[in-house]
Amino acid sequence: MALRRDASFSGGPLLYLVATPIGNLGEVSDRFREVVQDMDYIAAEDTRNSSLLLQKIGVKKPFISCHEHNEEEASDKIVSLLLAGKKVAYMSDAGYPLLSDPGARLVRNMVQNGIKVSVVNGPSALLPALLGSGLMSDRFFFYGFLPPRAREREKELRSLKSLRTTIVFYEAPHRIADTIPAMARILGKRDACIARELTKVHEEYIRGTLQELSDLVQQEALKGEMVIVVEGAREEALPIPDEPTILEALREELLRQSPGHATKAVAERFGMKKGEVYDIYLRNKGKGGA
Ligand code: SAM
Repeated sequence: MALRRDASFSGGPLLYLVATPIGNLGEVSDRFREVVQDMDYIAAEDTRNSSLLLQKIGVKKPFISCHEHNEEEASDKIVSLLLAGKKVAYMSDAGYPLLSDPGARLVRNMVQNGIKVSVVNGPSALLPALLGSGLMSDRFFFYGFLPPRAREREKELRSLKSLRTTIVFYEAPHRIADTIPAMARILGKRDACIARELTKVHEEYIRGTLQELSDLVQQEALKGEMVIVVEGAREEALPIPDEPTILEALREELLRQSPGHATKAVAERFGMKKGEVYDIYLRNKGKGGA
C-alpha cells in the first residue's frame, strides 16, 4: 500500500463506521445521533434491526443492506454514492462493525477508492468483558469466535496454549457447553470469566477456574450473550519443548520468513532465548532438519 494521509477534517468523501448499543439503548451517544441524523443513507448489516434502533431515537433514513453475503456488491454501491457526494454511515447489529462482524471488505474498498473512513466510538462487548473479568487487561489477544466444529476448535485452542496474554473469545450461547470444557481440557489450569448479558438487566460476570466454569456450563444452561475471557499461559505451565518440536516449529516459520525472523518467532512462541533457538537451527542446518 502506498503512503497516503487521510485527514477526516479536510473534506471529500468519507464513510462513517458507527458502533451501536450491545443491549442498553442508554449507550447511544450524542455523536451517534448527530452523525446518523446528518446522513443521506445508513448502510447496515441488518436493515430491520437498525431501522428499529433509529426509530427508537426518532431518526428515519433510507437503508442499504450490507452483510456478509453481499458485502462486495454493496460496498461498490456505497463507493458510488460517496463519490457522488452522498453521506453514508455503516453499522452492524451490535457493537462495532468489523469486530466479529461484517465491514472489513467495505473498509478495504473505501481505502482502495481513496475514500476516508471515520469511526464513531461506542459500545462493544470486548472491552467491558475484559475489564470486568478481573484478569490482566494491559495486554490481551482478541480471538473472536472459535470454529464451530470440535476438531478445528481444539486445534485452534492448542495453537493458543502458549500465549501469555489474556485471551478474549466471543461465543454463541448454544455452543458454550462444548467450548468451555474443551478449553479446560486443552488450556489446563487457568482462571477465566464468562461475561454475560453485558449492559443489560441480567448482566453477570462468572469467575472461576476453567474447570469450575466447565462444571457449571454442564449443569446449567446459561442463557444470553456471552464473552469468555481466559487467563494467559502461566510461566510455570510452559514446559521447554524438546528439540524435534522446536525444529518442527522452525521448519514452519522458515517457509514464511528468513532464518533470523524464524528463530525470533520460535523463541517468542516457546519463551526461549533467540540464541538457543539459533544454535538448534545451526546444528541441524543442512541435515534436512531445518
Ligand atoms: N461487533 C460486536 C462487538 O463489537 O462486540 C460483536 C458482534 S458478535 C456477532 C456477537 C458476539 O458478541 C456474541 O456472540 C457475544 O459473544 C458478544 N456479545 C454481544 N453483545 C453482548 C452482550 N451484551 N453481552 C455479552 N456478550 C455480548
